[in-house]
Amino acid sequence: MSSEKGNVARRRPQRHQNARAFKNDKYDTSARLKKINAKLHDGVCQHCKGILEWRVKFSKYKLLSKPKKCVKCLQKAVKDPYHIICRPCASKLEVCAKCGKEEEIVIPIDKGQGGTENKTTENGQESGLEDELDFDTNFSSTDNEEDSDRLEERFKSMTFERTEVQ
Ligand SMILES: [Zn+2]
Ligand SMILES: [Zn+2]
Repeated sequence: MSSEKGNVARRRPQRHQNARAFKNDKYDTSARLKKINAKLHDGVCQHCKGILEWRVKFSKYKLLSKPKKCVKCLQKAVKDPYHIICRPCASKLEVCAKCGKEEEIVIPIDKGQGGTENKTTENGQESGLEDELDFDTNFSSTDNEEDSDRLEERFKSMTFERTEVQ
């Protein structure tokens, strides 16, 4: 095996290529992640809550940059990512805000809050809004295909049903 001699000199250490372990805080460690981790996942059934928690855990939980249309009242009133029904409708109809089924809701929506989080008047600098805008622009560059694929594979081995955001 002395013929290897020539190659040995050229061989480069490859340890950098191994620095790809999955990290929950890869995208962020700051406000956005805190906000996401603080999510209660209220108004959804056990099954959907599990999916949302899974997404948070694997950094696949994306915040909405703008409200989505509610499938019940057709208003752009859905402020929670992955939900299809706005809070007022979900609480009125007593259905899961994510899958729309009449399942038992793990954490009922607080009806007293009216479902809005308008804090824009606070000090004139509402950090939450900036976070979301910032988040939107950042995301396209940080959410690279490779990671998605790896996560997809993990996801497939789990039993959760897959639902699309849109
Ligand atoms: Zn609605
Ligand atoms: Zn559900």
